Amino acid sequence: MITQIDNCNAALDTGKSKDLYQRSLELLIEGSSSPSRGPANYGKYPLYMQSGKGSRIWDANGNEYVDWMMGFGVVPLGHADASVTEAIYHAATTGAHFATATEIEVELAEAIQRLVPSAERVRFTNTGTESVMAAMRLARGYTGRAKIVKFEGHYHGWWDDVLLNSHPMPVHALGLPSDPVKIPDSSGLNRHAQDDTIVVPWNDLPALERAIANHPGQIAAILTEGVMSNMGVIPQAAGYLKSVEKLARKNGILFVLDETVTGFRVSAGGCQEYYGLSPDISTLGKALGCGLPVAAVVGRAEIMNALGWGGVLHYGTQNGSRIGLFAARANLKKLTANDGEAIKHSLSIAEAMCDGLSGLFTRMSVPAIVQRVGPLFQIMFTERSSISNYREYCGHVDQSLYRRFVQKMLESGIYMTPAPTLHFNATVAHTEEDVSLTLDAAERALRAIGF
Ligand code: PMP
Repeated sequence: MITQIDNCNAALDTGKSKDLYQRSLELLIEGSSSPSRGPANYGKYPLYMQSGKGSRIWDANGNEYVDWMMGFGVVPLGHADASVTEAIYHAATTGAHFATATEIEVELAEAIQRLVPSAERVRFTNTGTESVMAAMRLARGYTGRAKIVKFEGHYHGWWDDVLLNSHPMPVHALGLPSDPVKIPDSSGLNRHAQDDTIVVPWNDLPALERAIANHPGQIAAILTEGVMSNMGVIPQAAGYLKSVEKLARKNGILFVLDETVTGFRVSAGGCQEYYGLSPDISTLGKALGCGLPVAAVVGRAEIMNALGWGGVLHYGTQNGSRIGLFAARANLKKLTANDGEAIKHSLSIAEAMCDGLSGLFTRMSVPAIVQRVGPLFQIMFTERSSISNYREYCGHVDQSLYRRFVQKMLESGIYMTPAPTLHFNATVAHTEEDVSLTLDAAERALRAIGF
């Protein structure tokens, strides 16, 4: 489970931030709308942010921050991008919802299909969680099989069937890699929801082969993140995902790639383009709507068509929200213009940050590494030269040191993810100045915590 931390930014214990916190106490749970924005990650006070532009955000007290969190990665163009806000304005002033099909659905689906060739059919949803739910129902319906494979340390949203083994835990609680203990991440789950979920260590092909052999003809889907992005940033071992795809095909199992985090970011076509994969079903979200809740489940026509006539039922009043879809279209247009200049810029910023941080750690003899895939990267305080799976993360990454470091960064006006298991998000809006401000602050923060 998430454990409470005691960091508290003194600068927020004053002014409007303090006032909002006090007003929220008897209104909102932990002052916000998600535990990840509450005391588990922020100490006593949630951060109350008031506005954002480009790579910068301002809190309720007027303090400015360089933002590396970027709304959990949902704003690849930066905050309040002009082309996106214009598109939102146009949609809002011509009607938000008609309870009909719309032209923008067709246009955005075409745009997605151009970037993600495996998206032979597209169904819009609102969040990553919903897309994963639809994908798993589709996989079960299409194959007539009940079980799904889910990997240790992967997070796929807060739906009961997959809400297990996604938080860091003491290694001794995990059981053996050959038979991981199933650890639900929440109370209140449907008691049988996880009976058909098989948990397997990631980046370990023999473990997956064993799990398949133990459940012949019973597994509907192998569900995987393309980059392990909810345990810092952990990349696949070379060729691993391609092997998972082949193994799935050989056994009549659907290969389902959760691109909620990686879609439109690791490359325009997501992880599947980056690693040369052909998933049967993919889930897209976060960066798609550039800040608006737009997500999708996409995949091979033969499978997706099972949604037809509600054979595999997927409803949703807000599916294909017109305002969100306009924002998404403007977003994809800008992200992919001029031969993907925007994404290339994000990558070069991420590279400069990682080189700078690694250099700093070496120079100051800090036991820390930076792991990166595309514009996603994360610092891990560890004696190891790399972290390649969940168990290594649980056993060898010092999360409390990370939290102390982040707190010091915040005091210097740098907003990084306070959750060690999340990551930095470099975007089109970040500049070289942001990089050098961050590196200077990092040096001060490391000194302040004793290096
Ligand atoms: N899949 C992955 C890989 C995620 O990281 C997340 C959210 N962090 C989700 C699914 C769920 O997405 P949402 O929060 O939009 O429901």
